[in-house]
Amino acid sequence: MKILRLILGDQLNSNHSWFKDSDHDYLYVMMEIKDETNYVKHHIQKILAIFAAMRHFNHELQIKNFNTLYLKISDERNKQTFIKNLAWIVEKNNVHKIEYQEPDEYRLDALFQGFINYFNIPVQSCSSEHFYANRESVKEFFTDKKQWRMEYFYRHMRKKHNVLMEPDSTPHGGKWNFDADNRKFWNGEPKAASDLRPHHNLEDIYDEIKKEKIIFFGNCDVKNVRWPISRQESLQLLDTFIATNLVYFGDYQDAMHDQNWFLFHSFLSFALNTKMISPMEVVDKVQAAYQEKDLPIASVEGFIRQILGWREYIRGIYWSFMPGYESNNFFSHRRPLPDWFWSGETRMNCLATAIKQSLDQSYAHHIQRLMVVGNFALLAGLKPEEVHHWYLGIYIDAFEWVELPNTLGMSQYADGGQLASKPYVSSASYINKMSNYCKSCHYDFKKRVGDNACPFNSLYWNFFATHQDKLAKNQRLGIVYNQLKKMDTKQKQQLMEQSQIFLKNINAI
Ligand SMILES: Cc1cc2nc3c(=O)[nH]c(=O)nc-3n(C[C@H](O)[C@H](O)[C@H](O)COP(=O)(O)OP(=O)(O)OC[C@H]3O[C@@H](n4cnc5c(N)ncnc54)[C@H](O)[C@@H]3O)c2cc1C
Ligand code: SF4
Repeated sequence: MKILRLILGDQLNSNHSWFKDSDHDYLYVMMEIKDETNYVKHHIQKILAIFAAMRHFNHELQIKNFNTLYLKISDERNKQTFIKNLAWIVEKNNVHKIEYQEPDEYRLDALFQGFINYFNIPVQSCSSEHFYANRESVKEFFTDKKQWRMEYFYRHMRKKHNVLMEPDSTPHGGKWNFDADNRKFWNGEPKAASDLRPHHNLEDIYDEIKKEKIIFFGNCDVKNVRWPISRQESLQLLDTFIATNLVYFGDYQDAMHDQNWFLFHSFLSFALNTKMISPMEVVDKVQAAYQEKDLPIASVEGFIRQILGWREYIRGIYWSFMPGYESNNFFSHRRPLPDWFWSGETRMNCLATAIKQSLDQSYAHHIQRLMVVGNFALLAGLKPEEVHHWYLGIYIDAFEWVELPNTLGMSQYADGGQLASKPYVSSASYINKMSNYCKSCHYDFKKRVGDNACPFNSLYWNFFATHQDKLAKNQRLGIVYNQLKKMDTKQKQQLMEQSQIFLKNINAI
């Protein structure tokens, strides 16, 4: 009689208490299944990296003498769904109990809770032992508060976990947040570090994926896949980031440049979201480095805020509003994604660069996701559900618990302001300020109307004019609506007409 312990592809936490000792009463099961690869179209790098990391994790368990059963995508025994595979594994191995770590995705949580009805044996879940906060923490924290702003939760987390705090409970450096210092344009200096991620030849897995007719998209040199697939590589990536890029992370966090696609970002999201490393060890190491080295507080605080603040808060939003959050569409936007979302073939240089890069690398940094692609999607009224599926498929780190609130909430304001205090949109001037994209663009960032006027400009005003009823009362948008009010009627009309021309020709702009 055995206890089956199910491990998911994003539960590669070798420090989990399950792995304290290798008791042979337990059978550790991992499976690569089409149900998981095909529910949305994924970037090939994402499928390859997850399978490679899962296989590596299984290999390490075997070396440590754990009893494992691993189903590759091409395994003849593989029935390609959790339920069908578990059914024969339970029977064949005389399993008397199933255990699983809480999945981070609502869809799987609901499925696993139903296990009890499928299998006539006890089923038990436990924590994945990865996050600082539990699923309910955010909801509990905001119960009696009017607005669910990340900043308040972040301060609470700083105090609770004693991160960057003084003994008298005041924030280190005299301020909670140094975001205002983190908005520099990058002009080639300081030199960005080289891409020091590992290299993997994943041809074998790629051949299996092709043979099994898994649907995928995106570009990949399968002999040279650059994502970490083990805990050791993930820790190495963290150390490299701390040694080279952290010092400039704060200053250039929002910068974009066509000569460098990652600048001073960490590339840690894949390692974190698959749980190969924990948020605690990332925060602890960064804090320790701050104490040992002469690092700027704005960089260290800015980075820690992303992990201890945003990442935990976003997860709490997901669990507070699921199910249902995925169908939010505050502005009733209905426009399908333009074809060039799948090719990057548009004359808008900012979008062409960000989308081609996403197709090539399965990665874009935060501001590219938010203020280029997401900004356009919202201004153009693209359907949030389609935008959500695009983000979920294309990015290496996209798992629904973190992707959905970022896309639907932060980027598309589709939840009506539950997460963001105002829509994250801008005209071309912001993109020009934070990047060099406009310099080599077909469109003129200064022009609002005319053939080569930048589409962001008229779409920006069209967005605020169209959604006046829903947004004008928002105090944070007072300046925008004052400007709109003062605009002369002819100019307003020209802008609206121009925006309609772009929207009509959206596939060809
Ligand atoms: C529309 C949109 C969709 C996004 N989808 C995802 C997603 O699917 N998965 C994902 O992990 N992040 C997502 N993000 C957040 C952020 O863009 C990525 O975490 C980041 O770009 C990953 O690259 P990095 O590891 O180099 O990050 P860095 O810039 O080096 O940041 C360090 C870490 O902070 C965390 N972090 C930063 N911002 C956020 C955030 N808003 N929410 C949660 N964690 C954050 C990540 O774990 C990241 O690894 C999204 C943001 C937007 C605007
Ligand atoms: S001019 Fe407009 S479309 Fe071109 S890069 Fe700048 S913001 Fe993007």
